[in-house]
Amino acid sequence: MRSPLPDYLSEVLQACSDEDGGELAAYIPELADADPDRLALALSTPSGTRYAVGDADVRFTIQSISKPFAYALALVDHGLDAVLERVGVEPSGDAFNEISLDPATGRPLNPMINAGAITVHSMLDADRVQAGFAAFAGRDLEVDEEVHASELESADRNHAIAYMLRNHGIIEAKPTEVVDGYTRQCSLLVDVGDLAVMAATLANAGVHPETGERVVPRWVARQVLSVMTTCGMYDAAGDWFTLVGIPAKSGVSGGVIGALPGKGGFAAFSPRLDEHGNSTRGVRIFERLSRDMGMHLMEVPPAARPLTHGHAAEDGDGDGDLDSTYELQGAVDFVGMERLLVELEREEEGAREIVLDLTRVHEVRDVGRRMLLEAARRLALDGHGVTFVDPEDMLEVGDAGSIDVGDGPAATVVRER
Ligand code: GLU
Repeated sequence: MRSPLPDYLSEVLQACSDEDGGELAAYIPELADADPDRLALALSTPSGTRYAVGDADVRFTIQSISKPFAYALALVDHGLDAVLERVGVEPSGDAFNEISLDPATGRPLNPMINAGAITVHSMLDADRVQAGFAAFAGRDLEVDEEVHASELESADRNHAIAYMLRNHGIIEAKPTEVVDGYTRQCSLLVDVGDLAVMAATLANAGVHPETGERVVPRWVARQVLSVMTTCGMYDAAGDWFTLVGIPAKSGVSGGVIGALPGKGGFAAFSPRLDEHGNSTRGVRIFERLSRDMGMHLMEVPPAARPLTHGHAAEDGDGDGDLDSTYELQGAVDFVGMERLLVELEREEEGAREIVLDLTRVHEVRDVGRRMLLEAARRLALDGHGVTFVDPEDMLEVGDAGSIDVGDGPAATVVRER
């Protein structure tokens, strides 16, 4: 069978191609020469598959879409506190190249505006940027030297920002050097497929969906996605989030990425920009994708069945005593465990064996584990024996055969029933 997904993505492109509003970015001379009709779309999924349609071979400079990835690298290298000390996480509502600092804290408001991004860049050396971006993309990215030179020629605002940052002691390095490096970072060449995979790495909690490499820790991916949600689309973050509901970042060369936690990364490319600086067709494409695929982050997912109902069965030793078996399934998290606790509350005190069967569980979250063990402790205090059936060793007891649950007797852990 030929997958219908590329056809679907082509159809989305086709449907959005009649949109010809917007203007090319003019303040970087090289970008003003781009072909305004270029149009491409890519999707990278947790299955490790990349779909790309339209002008998917065309490379363009990454521009502001580099900002979340540089932020991720700075978080890895310096830790959250050190980065927060220099750059905040509040949306600004101002233009991306506003020459200002947060009046209350004296820091750049967030890492998605230039003041924040230049500060973040100053925390990384050139090799780190090159290697870090290569890990996100799964290949080495080259610099477009012409765009770099062209932007540097006209980078007065960014120089003004860098001088302001040094004057306030936020960066130590020479402003001209930092702006040069930051502009090189913005001039890295990508295509939509690269961007989709980079976004998917964030959406995948920091693990590259194709190489399987952990590029950044889970907490870093969460921090970056949060900032993209509130600050990623210039001063249109509210409109974007209510309509599309996907953490995103756009750039002045016409790229837009979206990273939907656990679901994958998207990227669109079309150079004409709307009044906020976001790709006009890119916005249309994302609105359509979000609607068609039910990808709005605030769309409440269908309730997962957290457990099948507990049932009583003879315990098998012929004395007529009953076991109560509860079969859990899916991810054991707060919601699933709360339901199980409601069921377990109905167990009367006594010696009945309670069997908690994790055979169909694929993940035990931290909170799920704590709640599971606390339930076992309380059941044991009520006089019950507790047995976990745990073929995949979700409880990580190894060969121990039992797990300590605190005050009561240890719970038994078996691989199969
Ligand atoms: N290199 C550009 C600048 O700093 C990036 C702008 C953007 O894509 O928003 O002005």
